[in-house]
Amino acid sequence: MEFSQFNTNALMEITSRPDLVFVRGQGSWLEDHAGKRYLDFVQGWAVNTLGHCAPEMQKALLEQSKLLMNPSPAFYNLPSIELAERLTGASVFDRVFFANSGGEANEGAIKLARKWGQVNKKGAYKIITMNHGFHGRTLATMSASGKPGWDKMFAPQVEGFPKAEINDLESVRKLIDDQTVAIMLEPVQGEAGVIPASKEFMQGLRKLADEHKLLFIVDEVQTGMGRTGTMFAYQQSDVVPDIMTLAKGIGGGVPLAALLARQEVCVFSHGDQGGTYNGNPLMAAVGVAVFDALAAPGFMESVNARAKQLSEGLLALSAKYGMKGERGMGLLRALVMDRDDGPAIVEAARNLSPNGLLLNAPRGNLLRFMPALNVTAEEIDTMLTQLDGLIAQVRKA
Ligand SMILES: *Cc1c(COP(=O)(O)O)cnc(C)c1O
Repeated sequence: MEFSQFNTNALMEITSRPDLVFVRGQGSWLEDHAGKRYLDFVQGWAVNTLGHCAPEMQKALLEQSKLLMNPSPAFYNLPSIELAERLTGASVFDRVFFANSGGEANEGAIKLARKWGQVNKKGAYKIITMNHGFHGRTLATMSASGKPGWDKMFAPQVEGFPKAEINDLESVRKLIDDQTVAIMLEPVQGEAGVIPASKEFMQGLRKLADEHKLLFIVDEVQTGMGRTGTMFAYQQSDVVPDIMTLAKGIGGGVPLAALLARQEVCVFSHGDQGGTYNGNPLMAAVGVAVFDALAAPGFMESVNARAKQLSEGLLALSAKYGMKGERGMGLLRALVMDRDDGPAIVEAARNLSPNGLLLNAPRGNLLRFMPALNVTAEEIDTMLTQLDGLIAQVRKA
């Protein structure tokens, strides 16, 4: 099949896409319309926790699809009860609200914090977020995001999101006033280029929140569900947040997200929050299957072993080419290059033959790696070898 045989004009234009139509995937591999295979280190944007078309997920989807797909969120269903129990059991949170995307879960977190401010803090509503942070593409979450210009793009947007700097506690403290209700951040800024918040910063934020009676919200849409080597990234900072959001990895590729909160923060009244698809048993059943795979003995140990291998391999490449090192947590990592050839490397990687390689450059001088959490040692070696050749090739040209 030739790409020119597809008519893509009925799709709304929202981004530039390569002339590829993916037709199947298996584990760390994708296959396009022409039968070419690609080693995938993007994995649906850090979404496919268990790789493409994981058998556990297929089984959960098939079995649940024969039982019940959607009784409506006005009734209880079994998979959502089971998944909520697993998530609260594995974290410091007491209750879960399920959603369909990270943006929607974060909208819920913002609403919950504002409601808590109405009930407990005389209507305080401001949520301090971080410059370069990313929280989604709804109006409120675009305003909460710290991407330059995003608070004005579809003006008027939602006000009340003053911006601080990650790893600069003083910049947060300066913004606190009597209208402040919460501090919200990603434990590792993903879209900004894999920038971890330090343990000291996370602990400092918790202390600051306690001193000023603020909620501490972690957006773990990208970092949660084992991505950083523990089930949730906040656990590595020894802090107890009040609210957490999850998406991406929680569904392993299907639309599933969650808003979790400690009991004392669960202040929604009936009618405050909802959504037709929320907590539907079909997606929740997949979430249970994904969770159980992550919680299986040895799984997280292997994530950490692969993370170490990836980190060391990237460091070696950095040394070889005079780059600026690598950073990240677990299997969310970035190679920091000395020049802006990220996009050229991404394109050359895709065009490799016979097998292509899928990488991501969130910034010109950065390559981001977000493989499946069950990526094999051999697949990481293959990627590192290919990357070595690609860097040499692009820099020679
Ligand atoms: C991807 C992402 C979001 C948005 O999630 P969607 O499912 O795309 O709405 C929010 N926060 C973080 C940290 C993300 O990485």
